[in-house]
Amino acid sequence: MPMKILVLNAGSSSQKSCLYELADDRLPALPPEPLWEAKVDWTHQQGFAEIEIATARGDRVQTEIQTSDRPAVMAQMIETLWNGPTRVLENPAEIVVVGHRVVHGGAAYRDSVLITPAVKAAIADLAAFAPVHNPANLEGIEAIEQSLGAIPQVAVFDTAFHAHLSPQVATYPLPYEWLEQGIRRYGFHGISHRYCAQRAAQLLNRKLTSLRLIICHLGNGCSLTAVRDGISVETTMGFTPLEGLMMGSRCGSIDPGILLHLLRQEQYSVEQLDQVLNKGSGLLGVSGVSADLRQIEQAIADGHTRAQLALDIYLHRLRAAIAALLPGLGGLDALVFTAGVGENSARVRAAACEGLGFLGLKIDPQQNQSRPLDQDIATADSPVRVLVIHTQEDWAIAQDCWHLRSTFQYRNG
Ligand code: AMP
Repeated sequence: MPMKILVLNAGSSSQKSCLYELADDRLPALPPEPLWEAKVDWTHQQGFAEIEIATARGDRVQTEIQTSDRPAVMAQMIETLWNGPTRVLENPAEIVVVGHRVVHGGAAYRDSVLITPAVKAAIADLAAFAPVHNPANLEGIEAIEQSLGAIPQVAVFDTAFHAHLSPQVATYPLPYEWLEQGIRRYGFHGISHRYCAQRAAQLLNRKLTSLRLIICHLGNGCSLTAVRDGISVETTMGFTPLEGLMMGSRCGSIDPGILLHLLRQEQYSVEQLDQVLNKGSGLLGVSGVSADLRQIEQAIADGHTRAQLALDIYLHRLRAAIAALLPGLGGLDALVFTAGVGENSARVRAAACEGLGFLGLKIDPQQNQSRPLDQDIATADSPVRVLVIHTQEDWAIAQDCWHLRSTFQYRNG
C-alpha cells in the first residue's frame, strides 16, 4: 500500500514543503519525484507572502498574499494539497506522517524522533541556541497540528549526524562550566551531509562503513564534514552555523578579539554584531556586491577587484579547511561537492581540488565543466574520487519518516 509523507523544511525566510508517495514495503533506490511541492517566500515584499505550488502533473500556481500571519499562510499552503488546481489528495487523511527539518536538536537527539510534547518542549528550549530557526520549525509543527490534527509528526535534526563527535572535537577550549551550560560544537547541515555520504557510497558502489569522505556543503551557508565509517568525525560549523568556512553573508571563523574590540571601542550592540556577522560579512561583506557567487563571478569578469578578493579568501579558507580534516581521516577516498555552489560552480570545485594535488587527486576538467550531477569527476588514475551530488534533504527526511513507520499507527488513505 502506498503511504503519503509530507515534508516541511522551514527556514527563517522561506518554507519549503513536498509530498512523497512511497510503497510501505520498500524504498526506491533513487529519490522519487514529489507529487506536490510548495514554497512560501516571506522576504519577497514586506507584509506579503509569496506562495508557489507545483505538482508532478505539471500544474503551477503562484499567489501573493497580503499578510504577515505566517501560520495562516502555512494553513493556506497546506490546503492546496486537497483544494484547488494543485489538488493531489482526495482527503487530508491520506497523509500518514509529516516530517520536519529541525535545525537544533542539542546533544540529546542523535536520531530522528516522533514528535511528542516533550520533543516540542526540547525544540522550544533549544531556541536559545538557534533563535531564528527553532521557532520557525516549531511554527511548522504547530501549523500541521492546526491543519491536520493529531497526525504523527517526525523531527529530523540537522545536528543529529554530528552527535558522535569526540570530546576533543566537540569541546571548545573555554572554561569547563561553559561546556556544562551547553556551549560546545554541535555542527549543522547534518541532513545534507548524511544524505551525501550515503549517496556517495551508492555512487562508488562501496560500503559507507569502508569510506573516508570529506563532504563540502557549499550553499548560502557552507560547511565541511569528515565522515569515517559512516559517522561524522569532524565538521566546520560549531556552536552556531557561524563557525568555519566563509559563506555568502556569514563570516565563518574569525578572531573573537575582533568582537571584543568592536564592543569596547566602537560601542557595537549585540544586535548590530549579529546582523554584521550573519548578514553583512562573507562574500557580500568583502565584495560589497552580493552574497550570491554567480554575481561575484560576473563582477570578477567585469574587473571588480573586491569581488576577486572575496572569492580568493573564500577559496583559500575552503582549501585550508579541507586540509585540516585530513589527519582525522588518515586519508581520503572521496571529496564530495554539494548544494548551490558545490553543485554548480566548476570554478570553485577546480580551485578546491587544485590544492589537493599532493594527494594525487585530479579532476577531469571536461567532466567538471559538464554540469555533472551525481557523478564522479575525477580522472581514471586519481586515487581520490571527486563526486558532485545533488543534495536532497527533503528526501532524506521522508526516508526517516518511512523508517520510523512502525513507531506510529497509521491507516492507508
Ligand atoms: P543553496 O543554499 O544550496 O540554495 O545555495 C544557494 C547559492 O548557490 C546561491 O546563493 C549561489 O551563490 C549559489 N549558486 C546557485 N547556482 C549557481 C551557479 N550556477 N553558479 C554558481 N553559484 C551558484
